[in-house]
Amino acid sequence: MKKITIAIDGFSSCGKSTMAKDLAREIGYIYIDSGAMYRAVTLYSIENDIFHDGHIDAEKLKEQLKDIHISFRLNPATGRPDTYLNGVNVEDRIRTMEVSSRVSPIAALDFVRQAMVAQQQEMGKAKGIVMDGRDIGTTVFPEAELKIFVTASPEIRAQRRYDELKAKGEEASLDEILENVKQRDYIDQNREVSPLRKADDALLLDNSHLTILQQKEWLAEQFRKAIDKE
Ligand code: C5P
Repeated sequence: MKKITIAIDGFSSCGKSTMAKDLAREIGYIYIDSGAMYRAVTLYSIENDIFHDGHIDAEKLKEQLKDIHISFRLNPATGRPDTYLNGVNVEDRIRTMEVSSRVSPIAALDFVRQAMVAQQQEMGKAKGIVMDGRDIGTTVFPEAELKIFVTASPEIRAQRRYDELKAKGEEASLDEILENVKQRDYIDQNREVSPLRKADDALLLDNSHLTILQQKEWLAEQFRKAIDKE
């Protein structure tokens, strides 16, 4: 069967990654979490003194970008890919509140985006890929055969993120998370380079009141339709 490219974009914490990962596993496609790449650059920046009093030393980051190698390797225990930064598994460390609160300004830097987009396009060259992020359907794969734009209310997204952190045993405040969700929405939608927006040909999915199963069925249906068109 002909393989296609699937782009899943949308707001923070609306369950894009879970849905993209599950779909990829079911249809035997590669899954790439593009947000994890921006998170890995952010973790590197935190650990290498690129943030000074909340400011980013963009020159230093630009110089060191060539030393940042990001890859994904399947974790046999979870059946999902883990993120590696310079050969070290950083899957847990890129999901902390500290990284979440600093990632959007890093992802707004044009030279960071150029480097990540080039790597993402390389990863998707052979098709048969599900990639999730903010600009996949608009910038990374504008020719993707199936594009989905996911959203849910900020309150529902914050609650989901809170439950996720709690389940991992991380300290979390719902108010702080809601603030972070809103702040990231704002920065992501208002940055100059590739702002978050729905591609004209993307299907809109508001999953505020959908169960995981309903969402899965909807997605499977859209995949079938997209494949039938090919
Ligand atoms: O998807 P996730 O929430 O892990 O992404 C973290 C951050 O990375 C987002 O808030 C956004 O600022 C940035 N991002 C982006 N473009 C992408 C994926 C993520 O700017 N394609």
